[in-house]
Amino acid sequence: MELYEFTAHELMDKLASGEVTSEEVTKSYFDRIKEKDGIVKAYVSTLEESALEKARKVDEDRKAGKPVSKYAGIPIGIKDNMCITGTRTTCSSKMLENFVAPYNATVIENLNKEDMVYLGKLNLDEFAMGSSTENSAFFPTKNPWDLDRVPGGSSGGSAAAVAADLAPWTLGSDTGGSIRQPASLCGVVGFKPTYGLVSRYGLVAFASSLDQIGPLTKDVTDSALLLNLLVGHDEKDSTSMDFEKKDYTKALVNDVKGMKIGLPKEYLREGVNEEVREAVLAVAKKYEELGATIEECSFDVGKYATSVYYVIADAEASSNLGRFDGIRYGYRSEKFENLKDIYRNSRSEGFGPEVKRRIMVGTYVLSSGYYDAYYKKAQKVRTVINKAYNELFEKYDLLLTPVSPTTAFKFGEKSENPIEMYLADICTVPVNIGGLPGISVPCSLDSKGLPISFQLIGKAFDEETILKAAYTYEQNTNFRENKPTFKGGNN
Ligand code: GLN
Repeated sequence: MELYEFTAHELMDKLASGEVTSEEVTKSYFDRIKEKDGIVKAYVSTLEESALEKARKVDEDRKAGKPVSKYAGIPIGIKDNMCITGTRTTCSSKMLENFVAPYNATVIENLNKEDMVYLGKLNLDEFAMGSSTENSAFFPTKNPWDLDRVPGGSSGGSAAAVAADLAPWTLGSDTGGSIRQPASLCGVVGFKPTYGLVSRYGLVAFASSLDQIGPLTKDVTDSALLLNLLVGHDEKDSTSMDFEKKDYTKALVNDVKGMKIGLPKEYLREGVNEEVREAVLAVAKKYEELGATIEECSFDVGKYATSVYYVIADAEASSNLGRFDGIRYGYRSEKFENLKDIYRNSRSEGFGPEVKRRIMVGTYVLSSGYYDAYYKKAQKVRTVINKAYNELFEKYDLLLTPVSPTTAFKFGEKSENPIEMYLADICTVPVNIGGLPGISVPCSLDSKGLPISFQLIGKAFDEETILKAAYTYEQNTNFRENKPTFKGGNN
């Protein structure tokens, strides 16, 4: 087995025992990136020089017997909408193509404290708006299971990198499914924590009441290990919660006996592909065998979540993206005669079509005369959705649903029709509307050999129950024996 094939926790053991060095591990990833990223295109930029320098420094410290963190020298890839001081943070947009971050995101500060090694920055849909990475201003990322298909989005680079062994684990962000849906399409584990658990400081804002950072990993154990580093109060993010630190690895217990899992019937009806439905029902059966109680339930208001999401997310985006005016940073048009021209031309030339669509929809729903009918209405329905979740969680410990209504789709299949693309999010956006934690866990392959995953949704701030159930499933099944084939494409 090659070094790049191991999980991060396996690599930690190897580093701790002295079996390998961080330099060897890091080199193995850059060799792999050179071999495979030309076809997968997960990375927007790589950081080979600084990564190897950091790896060697950690190796020296370890050799000298200095106290080092168990995470020290472990490589990681970062979605390119999180700031690392001195590196480009593009959001896969022409607007920020040459933007070098002058500060670290809080999650990066947290990883720095452990001396982790950054492999590079990963591709996304421009400003995290999309479900396929086709909206990246630079290039689309390919799905390692079939190069003619999308990896999902917006964290498509983060998911494809883990699936193709181009990073042991990565960070993504999830506003309406952007960690879970690409994780699902690429057959890796993706975890969106409860809103408020992880600081958003230094994550380029898309929709501030929905955005959360989380891990994409090869297994559930790595997800818990990375979550341990991400979580924590941060005074730079006023929505970050002040809780006592937890050790999420304590939740990695192989036991679901007595757990009550609700199966919302609306997610297993029309709109959800037959093979996906069968796979999720098989997961339900497995949980029953393992001692959990599965009960069909109803989440009827969930059908409004996508509409609510695309009003609220776009409204917040239109406001957040107001800062890109060509003055302080970002792209500036060369064609201007006055200040208004700078604004107009820089924004017209710097943003791609989907981002412009969101800004226009968002501005519309916030404008006087339409505010009550759209934005305010959406906020009210958001409250109704939250109430429905609260009622379900009085009865159940977890909800089980699909992550994506289909497996990975072909390039171009949905990109001409925004509504089609937005419907890719029907199972994931309700969770963001509720601010709840949700995990995507791969469970099987469809008849085309593409990964199918299931989603577990938990109560707010109860990531432990999700981790426990996800871990139990993983321990009693064997999806990880499947490997992406890199078929298709023109190679
Ligand atoms: N696909 C959704 C959108 O386009 C979700 C994006 C995200 O979670 N960042 O808005």
